[in-house]
Amino acid sequence: MIRFPFDNSYARLPEHFYTRQAPVPVASPGLLRLNRALAAELGLDADALAGAEGAAIFAGNLVPDGAEPLAQAYSGHQFGNFSPKLGDGRAILLGEIITPDGLRFDMQLKGSGRTEWSRGGDGRAAIGPMLREYIISEAMAALGIPTTRSLAVATTGEYVFRDDALPGAVLTRIAASHLRVGTFQYFAARGDTDAVRALVEYARARHCPDADGPLGLFRHVVAAQARLIAQWLLVGFIHGVMNTDNCAISGETIDYGPCAFLDEYHPDTVFSSIDHGGRYAYGNQPRIAQWNLARFAETLLPLLDADEQRAVDIAQEALAEFPTQFEATYQSGLARKLGLAEPAPDLARDFLALLAEHRADFTNSFRALADAVDDPARDAPAFAEWSARWRAAGPDAALIRATNPAFIPRNHLVEEALTAATQGDTRPLDTLLDVLSRPFDDQPGRERHATPPRREERVLQTFCGT
Ligand code: AMP
Ligand code: MG
Repeated sequence: MIRFPFDNSYARLPEHFYTRQAPVPVASPGLLRLNRALAAELGLDADALAGAEGAAIFAGNLVPDGAEPLAQAYSGHQFGNFSPKLGDGRAILLGEIITPDGLRFDMQLKGSGRTEWSRGGDGRAAIGPMLREYIISEAMAALGIPTTRSLAVATTGEYVFRDDALPGAVLTRIAASHLRVGTFQYFAARGDTDAVRALVEYARARHCPDADGPLGLFRHVVAAQARLIAQWLLVGFIHGVMNTDNCAISGETIDYGPCAFLDEYHPDTVFSSIDHGGRYAYGNQPRIAQWNLARFAETLLPLLDADEQRAVDIAQEALAEFPTQFEATYQSGLARKLGLAEPAPDLARDFLALLAEHRADFTNSFRALADAVDDPARDAPAFAEWSARWRAAGPDAALIRATNPAFIPRNHLVEEALTAATQGDTRPLDTLLDVLSRPFDDQPGRERHATPPRREERVLQTFCGT
């Protein structure tokens, strides 16, 4: 039996934090994808996991020794409306593994069958959305952005029924934790202050042991979210479903649904088919993160001060750090993208305005600056005046190459890989994952993967696939 170094702290929390539930076995486990590099990082035996036993574990048919499978309770504001009972409707936390470096990670199966929290859903997932999460989460990791990781995608030998019958799959997700703003909301909405207190202590011990009490935890999460959202904007990432149940206390990007990267730059960009009002548009993400953090703060009020008004004042003061911290990370990141050591807000703003005006490709426009440093002859006429000001600030081409990826998971390439894999051809997926594992390297022969979509290749909408 393959051994995992489990130590399951969540299963030691009070019983009403979760329901105990094993993954529901599937007809025929297969291993579509194993992340060998991640397995090695986690201290797991990739060769063993690549075999039949690994497939059985990743499909949910074999519960490894030491796992204590459970479905977590949580609530969430979805597009602004509160749903008191969400929870893991199609996911199972197998347990927490401890790496050789002593780090603790959740190991979760997603698409592993019905649970107490499934409501009308089938508890299952289709191969496309699970591979999509695999591709984009691993691309984010390679870009240096905090994210949950993807260890494996298993096939089930079963169909799931959405608009069509689609082959089913189970994703194995690795996360610093699955604590969400919605986890706190679940207990706060029930007036269960003891549970919120226990959760605060658990989250603090797990994510910021040096932080002082509930306020210390809150400030830590505000800072982590501010950094995260700035990093999203700096690579052109749109999460697409920033509901409070998809907002992780760890500061990791979590739940890759209808997410997408910008090709052309425009702050109003939305891809998600369910985001009609543009609530989660690219440029709205800082505002929404702050809104989510306000919901988090509300759950903590009884712990911040016995006097309610005092508690609100304390929370508001801490939340006011969000815009400051976001702006600091965003501006220093934009400066580095321009090859500059110090923030240059005017240059950055004017460059983004030019990109938006000309609907220029976000990723390639920044990357191209590396070659433009010493070559004014290459300047497009519309950018000439800006470029002269920028050169006067002394940009560094090596910094530009180190900060701006040449490769992002472009929607049309992701769709191409998912369509082929669903039909049994994993070659485009293999190539895409390989390219995206080294996003900052020039990769001769991979020019197609750095090219924006032609008009007819453009993906205008993405779907959550639930
Ligand atoms: P998500 O859109 O993946 O963040 O999921 C939002 C909520 O819906 C979570 O509580 C999920 O567990 C639940 N959910 C999503 N898809 C399914 C499904 N196929 N079956 C049961 N529950 C689901
Ligand atoms: Mg979710």
